[in-house]
Amino acid sequence: MTPVGPGTRIGVLGGGQLGRMLAEAGRPLGFTFRFWDPGSAEAIQGFGDHLRAAWDDDDAFERFVEGVEVVTLEFENVPVELVRRIAARVPVRPGAAALEVAQDRLNEKRRFTELGIRTNAFRSVDSESGLGAALDEIGMPAVLKTRRLGYDGKGQRVLRDAADVEGAFDALGGVPCILEAFVPFDREVSLVAVRTLEGELHPWPLVENRHHEGILVRTDAPADGVSESVRRQAEEGVRALADSLDYVGTLAVEFFQTGDVLLANEMAPRVHNSGHWTQDGATTSQFENHLRAITALPLGPASLARPTVMLNLIGERGDPATLLEYEGSRLHDYGKSPRPGRKVGHVNLVGSTATQARQRAEALLGHLGGGEPIVCT
Ligand code: AMP
Repeated sequence: MTPVGPGTRIGVLGGGQLGRMLAEAGRPLGFTFRFWDPGSAEAIQGFGDHLRAAWDDDDAFERFVEGVEVVTLEFENVPVELVRRIAARVPVRPGAAALEVAQDRLNEKRRFTELGIRTNAFRSVDSESGLGAALDEIGMPAVLKTRRLGYDGKGQRVLRDAADVEGAFDALGGVPCILEAFVPFDREVSLVAVRTLEGELHPWPLVENRHHEGILVRTDAPADGVSESVRRQAEEGVRALADSLDYVGTLAVEFFQTGDVLLANEMAPRVHNSGHWTQDGATTSQFENHLRAITALPLGPASLARPTVMLNLIGERGDPATLLEYEGSRLHDYGKSPRPGRKVGHVNLVGSTATQARQRAEALLGHLGGGEPIVCT
């Protein structure tokens, strides 16, 4: 592909906040956007055309591909078949291969294992009796997860004793599942990186993530005290994975860290919540570099500009006057109606040092009550 620039229309599958932030990053580059999303897609209203149609709508397919130069996705549960069909007409980056792996936790874990990326023990579970057999091998505690369509901690249950096991398979809908060993990790980290059409990988620094009930609530960038060995495990793992998928664009891999060992938890074939800090704390954001990569433009440095703490706004927007009271605070609102457990925005708190960024984040959290690593629930 020859590089494309101002005036280029980019097609995006999905119309959530990630699409909104891609469009925000693409505007200065002169890109315009067309989003395909079957829902109301509040977050992207005003950021491009919204094609509201079911994924299997043939008319919508034609209207979507007509006049777009390249297609990307901001939502990973788009039917792989649709992505293949689009790819026969317009380049889709990243492509169907990445989706096929990322949509199914079993495929994901198998791919990690094949590539020599360490991950926790896992077994496929297709029935109640299969769960019993898998537990005999994995032991407890363990986590039962649906293979597909799980996100933000949905579609999973921690099994600690016999009472948790009873009915657990049916409670998740009786669908194909994966049982994995529970990891008593020290912390969770993730690596967000961007891969070019030529296959160069540019990682941002490793970051530390905190979750509350399965939802990301806070990212500290960079992660504190990352040893050379941990950095290498993360970067080599992500490189092997991205190469194996011939990946183009931004991707993320989440890891559990115990001591100096990383175990891969899951990948996201798209820009990722743990990369939102890059909007204010990196030389080039994950959104901008994603767009540059998929349009064959030169990338900007994926380097740290300022230490940053990202706090998600979950369930409630919060009062902007409070959120912005703290020096170094940048608010990113998604334009979505608040609902319990729904991500509606985030705040990036930057500092000239990591300590300063953290102090600002703690001050804001303290103000909001509790000092817990969650802003609003
Ligand atoms: P996931 O949807 O797989 O990313 O899981 C959401 C969150 O649940 C993770 O970020 C962890 O905090 C927790 N979690 C998931 N799987 C495990 C596991 N095997 N061991 C310990 N914690 C887990």
